[in-house]
Amino acid sequence: MADSQTAKCDIHPDKPSMAQCTECQKNLCSLCILRTDDGAIVCEACSKQAEPVSVGEAPAKAKRGLPLIVQILLSIAVLGLLLVAVCFGLLYMMCGRK
Ligand SMILES: [Zn+2]
Ligand SMILES: [Zn+2]
Repeated sequence: MADSQTAKCDIHPDKPSMAQCTECQKNLCSLCILRTDDGAIVCEACSKQAEPVSVGEAPAKAKRGLPLIVQILLSIAVLGLLLVAVCFGLLYMMCGRK
């Protein structure tokens, strides 16, 4: 009878309101009540707004091609080549000085 006395959920008109959003004062039923990290009651929309936007989580490293093992092998190969070059250089110098 006095149905208008009972607050209804703003999103679910057939459900009684259990609480109000602390942000926008919407009536919320048990389905709609969400809590922030501080325990404040909020509606779904406000809980999304309250969430810290985590931008920049995208892995920028993923595109950097070569796997670590290849990089290691490459640097070993480069080091080896340098070593060989130095050895040849020394040999050449020693032979040239003679
Ligand atoms: Zn709200
Ligand atoms: Zn609801």
